[in-house]
Amino acid sequence: MSAIDSRTVIALVSLMGALMSLVLFFMRRNYPASIKGIGEWSLTLLLLFAAGVLASMRDQAPDLVTVAVPNLLITAGTYLAFVGSQRFVNQPPRLLPNLVLIALVNLVLLWFTVVDSSYGSRTLVLTLALAYLFGIHAHLYARHGYGTFSDRFVVFILCLATLNELLRFVTAAAMPVGQNLFDPSWPNLLYITAYPFIMLLLAIGMVLLATHRLRVELEHLATHDSLTNATTRRHLNDSCEQELERCRRHGRSTALLLMDLDHFKAINDTRGHQAGDQVLIRFVDIVNGLLRRGDELGRFGGEEFVALLPETALPDALMVAERIRAACEADTVQLGCTVSIGVSSYQTSADTTDSLLARADAAMYRAKAAGRNRVEAG
Ligand code: GH3
Ligand code: MG
Ligand code: MG
Repeated sequence: MSAIDSRTVIALVSLMGALMSLVLFFMRRNYPASIKGIGEWSLTLLLLFAAGVLASMRDQAPDLVTVAVPNLLITAGTYLAFVGSQRFVNQPPRLLPNLVLIALVNLVLLWFTVVDSSYGSRTLVLTLALAYLFGIHAHLYARHGYGTFSDRFVVFILCLATLNELLRFVTAAAMPVGQNLFDPSWPNLLYITAYPFIMLLLAIGMVLLATHRLRVELEHLATHDSLTNATTRRHLNDSCEQELERCRRHGRSTALLLMDLDHFKAINDTRGHQAGDQVLIRFVDIVNGLLRRGDELGRFGGEEFVALLPETALPDALMVAERIRAACEADTVQLGCTVSIGVSSYQTSADTTDSLLARADAAMYRAKAAGRNRVEAG
């Protein structure tokens, strides 16, 4: 008698899987629709739960129900999880080749169930198919992940799952003829215990992935302007504070560009408010195209923007400002308006975000007074 009863393990862990499915189902309902794939993950666990229930009825119902159907549910479910992950990372799934593969695998499994019943052959086919599905799944996150804990956790679990299937493949190849899943041999017990636990850990990994994505999205919403995707005034102020701290400590330089679109009200009045919105979006595109990686563009008010240029002295900042001014002037079709820019830079350790902004603001008003479409230093 073995200390671990295979049927009980399958039933218990399947039940836990069903509970995780429920957790993911509610997450899908409550999380923003922009986080895709959670529904597929939830359904995967439900399919695996159904497979577990049917498999635990082995010898009490026909093999078609307790072997062939669970195998179909397991392969389809494992693939569905992969599709969910593809949707999660915004990679369009290529369904046809994998669906054909799954259909073929299940036809072979059906053959070894009802025509030439062979547990050993079924195991070889099933484990190879699952190793492939887990393998491409691990590869997906290894390529598309962002190196966060949840990404690495999921890649680790998926590699473990692939390895588990390959190990099972090898032990099945060496298995005496006539064995079945519920024989209390150590490879059977190891596999039966490892597989559902790996699926549970994978479900936990998916909850972590979705939660992390939600946090990233909420942080983005809190720090970015919804119309133009420039950062908010508050975020830019915080970045400016940090930059000034670095200037004071390490004697570095930093510059601010305060940009105000010229006669923007006239655009709203003549072309409509929506056209005005498009002009703002276009302006942010132009400026972002001219800024460096570490620079930050924030929206301060209606048509007023501030760019923070770390590690930049006044002459370089003036050149950047001039490039922005010229690019706006040149874009007569989509933008159709010019910009006045006031530039200020860190001078002494007494400088604060407010003092830098005040100097840039004064310079910008000089640019307006001098006829607009100009760059002035403050
Ligand atoms: P100046 O050259 O002196 O800067 O003139 P201006 O017309 O650009 O300046 P003013 O401050 O008089 O007008 C700014 C306009 O920007 C008024 C406001 O209706 C408009 N505005 C503010 N926020 C938005 C927005 O989100 N979308 C649109 N379409 N218009 C906005
Ligand atoms: Mg203006
Ligand atoms: Mg203004």
